[in-house]
Amino acid sequence: MDHREPGGGRFAVLDPATGQAFDEAPGLRPEELDGVVGRAHGAWPSWRSDPAARARALLASADAVEEAGADLAPLLTREQGKPLAESYAEVARTAARLRHFAQMAPEVRTIEDGRPVRSEIRWQSLGPVAAIVPWNFPLQLASAKFAPALAAGNTVVLKPSPFTPLATRLLGSVLSAALPEGVLTIVTGREPLGARLASHPGIRHVTFTGSVPTGRAVARAAAPGLARVTLELGGNDAAVLLDDVDVGRIADRLFWAAFRNCGQVCMAVKRVYAPARLHSQVVEALAERARTVVVGAGLDPGTELGPLNNAAQLEQVERRTARALADGARAVAGGHRLDRPGYFYAPTVLADVPPGSEVVTEEQFGPVLPVLSYGSLDEAVAAANSTRFGLGGSVWGTDLDRAGAVAERLECGTAWINHHAELSLAQPFAGVKESGVGVAGGPWGLYGNLRPFVVHRPLEGRG
Ligand code: NAD
Repeated sequence: MDHREPGGGRFAVLDPATGQAFDEAPGLRPEELDGVVGRAHGAWPSWRSDPAARARALLASADAVEEAGADLAPLLTREQGKPLAESYAEVARTAARLRHFAQMAPEVRTIEDGRPVRSEIRWQSLGPVAAIVPWNFPLQLASAKFAPALAAGNTVVLKPSPFTPLATRLLGSVLSAALPEGVLTIVTGREPLGARLASHPGIRHVTFTGSVPTGRAVARAAAPGLARVTLELGGNDAAVLLDDVDVGRIADRLFWAAFRNCGQVCMAVKRVYAPARLHSQVVEALAERARTVVVGAGLDPGTELGPLNNAAQLEQVERRTARALADGARAVAGGHRLDRPGYFYAPTVLADVPPGSEVVTEEQFGPVLPVLSYGSLDEAVAAANSTRFGLGGSVWGTDLDRAGAVAERLECGTAWINHHAELSLAQPFAGVKESGVGVAGGPWGLYGNLRPFVVHRPLEGRG
């Protein structure tokens, strides 16, 4: 595995808990991509030809990731900001995903159509896959791309975000012991590296996770070569609380569904809709947690909430919240930066937010939660469905059948009842509207990296 980039200059990696550079990473010069993609092509024929060897290599990869947990997790926290326990969980999820896909194979099916003909449907790999991932879950999202792509028999060129290149590079070295050369290559660098990778003629599938505008740019870049594109984009998930909800019982779960990883989760709860009668109780229950949660550096023991990952993200959260406050919203908790080095923003719960405010209509991707009040349930469902996103959504209440009926009205890829953003490795993961194109997760993730190949032959006759 070649993850050493010749030339291209090095770039600084910052610790979000201090805002200071603590290391650097090599930048691949865009023109060096030809060599990387060429090696991915070279490794493909042998990798695709032996499913049993692939499965063994992926299982060995999972073991290697687990064994390296004590090196990977602290480095991930250092560059990403999240509490150490969450980094360990991310490493564990990465290993679990490798195991999950190592044991999955496409189904070969025979179609009987009544004629004396047999059609056998087989599945073939695509070739080199470009995987481009963001900074919020660098390892977990990388593995969500490379595990199914590799299990399907493709080779992968993986580009992490320039904000979080280090744990991914270390993961690359860890996996190099288990995977043949050229099967998985990590490339790091600033733009236009991602754009060049997405448009490289040797790439047959671009699988991207990130924001909607970059997703559009990736789709455009892949269009001339007609590479397959899978896009997992932003979310603005609503949590709709019903009038029979037990606020005390759900408050903690709801809080963490919004604030985990400092709100930098594509399918975090980003808006809460509470019935008018319960609105102030919900606001107070969430604000109470926001005031008492332990905010600090991810490596400090006891930290529950880390900093935002980078300065631009902090400024975006600050700008959107300031606008909401100027438009009449009330910060019941937080509403300001924390007075300390690093990218810390106080956990914030907003009431009286105008519904057209950007913290409601756009993805805030930070520790800021607007709690809106609704009159009728129809009004709540319409508001929940009113944004251009459609990743996830949830409904919270005591009567599960009623909550289930409301959940079915949400326009999104996954709807939960009484929790949010809990994903099984076996489920499909797909957004509607601007939240994405294509399906990841479970067998759908595997088939997303394969093409059908049909062999059609008569059962009798001369031929
Ligand atoms: P981003 O779109 O800025 O960057 C994502 C990746 O694309 C990075 O590796 C970046 O370097 C690269 N990139 C930037 N410009 C590019 C270009 N022109 N061509 C190709 N690649 C390019 O996103 P981000 O700020 O890193 O991450 C936050 C966003 O990711 C949020 O919108 C969040 O909702 C989304 N996200 C979605 C999911 C999901 O599964 N739906 C999961 C996590 C994050």
